[in-house]
Amino acid sequence: MEQVKNPHPEEDPISVLPRVGPKVASTLEKLNIFQVKDLLFHFPYRFQDKTRITPINSLVDREFALVVGRITSVEENFRRSRTRQSYRPSRSLTVKIRDDAGSMKMVLFHFSNQQKYYLERASWIKCFGEVRLMGRSLQMTHPEYSVYEYSPTIPQADRLTPVYGLTEGIGQGMMRNIVLSALEYCKNLTVPNLLPKAVIRANGLSDMELAFDDIHTPKIDDHQEGQDYSSLPAMRRLIFEELVSFQVARRQQKKIRQAADAPNMNPEGDLSKQLRDSLKFTPTKSQRTVIREIITDLRSASPMLRLVQGDVGSGKTLVAAAAAAWVVDSGHQVAIMAPTELLADQHLKSFYDWFSPLGIDVQVLTGRLTQKVRKQVERGMKTGQANIVIGTHALFQEGVEFKSLGLVIVDEQHRFGVGQRFALREKGVMDKQVPHQLVMTATPIPRTLAMGFYADLDVSNITELPPGRIPIKTEIFASDHRANAIQRVDAVCASGQQAYWVCPLIDKSEVLDVESAVEAEKFVRQSLPGRRIALIHGRIKSDKRDKIMTRFRKGEIDVLVATTVIEVGVDVPNASLMVIESSERLGLAQLHQLRGRVGRGATQALCTLLYKQPLSDMSRSRLQVMQETTDGFKIAEKDLELRGAGELLGTRQTGAQIFRIAEITRDRSLLGDVIKAADLILEQHPELIDPLIRRWTIREGQYSAV
Ligand code: ADP
Ligand code: MG
Repeated sequence: MEQVKNPHPEEDPISVLPRVGPKVASTLEKLNIFQVKDLLFHFPYRFQDKTRITPINSLVDREFALVVGRITSVEENFRRSRTRQSYRPSRSLTVKIRDDAGSMKMVLFHFSNQQKYYLERASWIKCFGEVRLMGRSLQMTHPEYSVYEYSPTIPQADRLTPVYGLTEGIGQGMMRNIVLSALEYCKNLTVPNLLPKAVIRANGLSDMELAFDDIHTPKIDDHQEGQDYSSLPAMRRLIFEELVSFQVARRQQKKIRQAADAPNMNPEGDLSKQLRDSLKFTPTKSQRTVIREIITDLRSASPMLRLVQGDVGSGKTLVAAAAAAWVVDSGHQVAIMAPTELLADQHLKSFYDWFSPLGIDVQVLTGRLTQKVRKQVERGMKTGQANIVIGTHALFQEGVEFKSLGLVIVDEQHRFGVGQRFALREKGVMDKQVPHQLVMTATPIPRTLAMGFYADLDVSNITELPPGRIPIKTEIFASDHRANAIQRVDAVCASGQQAYWVCPLIDKSEVLDVESAVEAEKFVRQSLPGRRIALIHGRIKSDKRDKIMTRFRKGEIDVLVATTVIEVGVDVPNASLMVIESSERLGLAQLHQLRGRVGRGATQALCTLLYKQPLSDMSRSRLQVMQETTDGFKIAEKDLELRGAGELLGTRQTGAQIFRIAEITRDRSLLGDVIKAADLILEQHPELIDPLIRRWTIREGQYSAV
C-alpha cells in the first residue's frame, strides 16, 4: 500500500520522534513543547564553535574553546572539612594538558572513580569549555571532554553547535538529538516570515527564506572570525522578531488592562489620615510624590500597573502602606507578596504595627502555617474579614480566594518568576474587574532599557533616602586578611552594634553552601569568644530561623552569620557592619542588596568585601564599582555595562526566562527600531499580532505582567 504523504508533519505530536517516549514527552511539555513544530521553534540562544581547535597559547579568558592535547598528569586533591553534622572530605581532580603551544588544567569537582580511571589511562584529551585565567594558569572547570589513546582525528564539522534552553531531566546532548530528529522529520521546512516587508527593508534584515536547519545549526562560513553569533543574518532577523513580538504583546496587554474595570476607590478616608498621623517620622518629599502618583492611578477607572523603584532603605514599605490604607478605606482587600518568608514576616510586623491599632485586620499566609490556621486565614480572605494579607507565593495557590481584591503589591519583584506574578493578579479577576498592581524593586531597570521598552508600565522613582543616613563605606580585602574583618566585627560589637557575616552561595549545591556558612560560623566563634553569634541558612527550620531573627532584631545576638537568605529587605537598624565572603562571586545587584542591610541607623556603616585570590580584572572592576558608589541606579547601569542584563533583570538564572534568543543588554541598540516596527504592526498589520505572540510565547501568560 502506498503511504499517503503527510502534508503537515510539523503538527504531529512529538511522540512520533525517535527517542521521545512518554517520559521525555511529558518533560518537554514543561517547555511548552507538544508538537514537532514546537521543537523547531525552540531556537538555540547561543552557539558553540567546535569546528576549530584553539592552540593553548591562543586561549582567551572567559571564552569557549576546543582544545586537543596530551594528558601530562592526573592528580586527585582532598580538602577536609569538618562540620557539625558530618565529616566529609571533598575532593577534586586536576588534569594537566599540554599541546605544542602551551599547557593548561582541567579541573573536576564532581567525578566518578571510573572517570578518574579512564583519565589516568588515556594519553590524549579533547575538551570544550569556558577558559578561565586563574592567576597565571589557564583552566577549564567541568568542560565537555573525551579521552583517547592516540592523537584524535577531529571530524571537520562545518556547522556550529546549538545551545538550548533546558528543563530538568533533559540534558544539552539529548535536546540536540531531539531537535535534530525533528529537523529530519520535517525536511526542508522553512520559517514563515511574520514581519512586514517594510520592517525587513527598513532594518536591513535578511529577507531570505529562513531554513530551520540554518537556524539550529548555522554553517560556519556564514559566520566570520570573532563575530558575535547574534549577528548571523538568520539570528538577527529572529532576535528582531522576538523583540517586536514582546513589544506588541505588552502593548496589547496594556490595551486589555485599560479596557478592564478597576475596583472602585473613594476619596481619601479616615484610615489614610490616621496612618499619616500615627507615623513616627515624616515621609520624604520623594515618598510623598510617589504616593500621590499611586493614588491618582488608584482613582482612575482602569487598573494600575506601576513599578516603584527605590534604592534599598529608601522607604518603599511606607509607600505600600499608604496605598494599602486607601484601598482598605474604600472597602477592598490588599494582598502583599514577598519573595521569602523572612521578608513576609518583616512586612507583617510593619503592617501590623501600623494598621492593627487602627482596627484593621492584617493576616499572613505562608507555606508553613498549620492546616488549621491556614484554613482560618483563607476563610477571612474569602469573607472579607481580612483586610490586608501578606504572604509568599502561597498566596496564589489553588483554592485561595478573596472577597474583593483591590490591590496587589509585589515586593522585590525581580525575585519572582513572571508566571507567579501573573497568577496572583488573576485571583482578583471577577466580573471583568482587575485589581490594581503595584510592583516594588530595589534593583532598578537602567534608564537606557526602561525607556520605551516596558511600554505598558508606569514607573515611579523614590529618589532620596530618609534624612540622616550616612553613606556606607566599603572596603575590599583578599580573604587572607580575614583577620582584618574580624577586628572590624569586634570593634562594632564593642560599641554595642551588630554585624552580619555573609557566605554567599559558593557552590551550586546547597549542601556545600550550608557547609561553608557552618565553617564560617565556627571561624567567627573561635575568633571572637566573648561575642554572641548565631547562624542562619536555608536548611534551618523556619520557626527556628524566626527566633534567631527576632533575637537579632532585639540585639540579643551580636553577629549573624548567614547565607544570602538575608539578602532582601531585612531591616535591623542597629546592624552597622556587613562582611561578605567570596564577594567576587556575586552579582552587583546582589551585593548592593546585601550591603543595603546596613546603614539604616544613624551611625557610619561599613561593608567589608572579602574575595578569594586570584581576582580577574573583570571581578576587580566590579568590586571597585561597589566601592565607588552606593547609588543603586548607578550600580545597575555599571552592571549593565560590565556583565549583561540577565543577572540584572533576574531572568535566566531564576528560571523565569523572558526571551528565547534575544538578550536585552546585547540587543539594546535595536530597541528604538523595534518600537517603531511594533507601532507599524499594531496600526497596519493587526493580522500579524496573534501569530507573532504565539510563536514567541514560552509559557501561557508569559508576557502579561511586569
Ligand atoms: P526599602 O525601600 O528598602 O524597602 P524600608 O521600607 O524597609 O526600605 O525602610 C527602611 C527603613 O527606613 C525602615 O526602618 C523605615 O521605617 C525607615 N523609614 C522609611 N521612611 C522613612 C522616613 N521618611 N524617615 C525616616 N525613616 C524612614
Ligand atoms: Mg523593602
